Amino acid sequence: MKVLTGSCLCGKVGIKIPDDFDYMGNCHCSECRKFTGSDYSSVGGISSAKFTFTKGEEYVSIYPKSEETELAFCRCCGSSLFSRKITGGKHNIRLGILDSAPTHKPSFHIFVASKAPWLEINDGLKQFEKGPVK
Ligand SMILES: [Zn+2]
Ligand SMILES: [Zn+2]
Repeated sequence: MKVLTGSCLCGKVGIKIPDDFDYMGNCHCSECRKFTGSDYSSVGGISSAKFTFTKGEEYVSIYPKSEETELAFCRCCGSSLFSRKITGGKHNIRLGILDSAPTHKPSFHIFVASKAPWLEINDGLKQFEKGPVK
């Protein structure tokens, strides 16, 4: 199994995961848009047990978004790293932090009902008004 590595902008935080996402998709919810500062967030979901920090865990800050979801970011450079589903046991890795190309690509859009008003989605991928798709 190929291993994917990822890092934040300043390089203090490093992660690794197997190239084995359970799903990959784009989330257009307003919370992801705020947190990432982008039109939408591309994420890959993987079991939390398969997620490892390679360095810099002490630089990671956690924002408890809800009872179930924690958002992780580098407190040195502000890079958005992943969300963690606490009881769901999943890490949703922000694909923008990957240093190498995963085998698969995002295959759907969720929460398109709250997408950025200027954004046109015309990539032909499946769209869902809400989400998440499991
Ligand atoms: Zn950083
Ligand atoms: Zn979202």
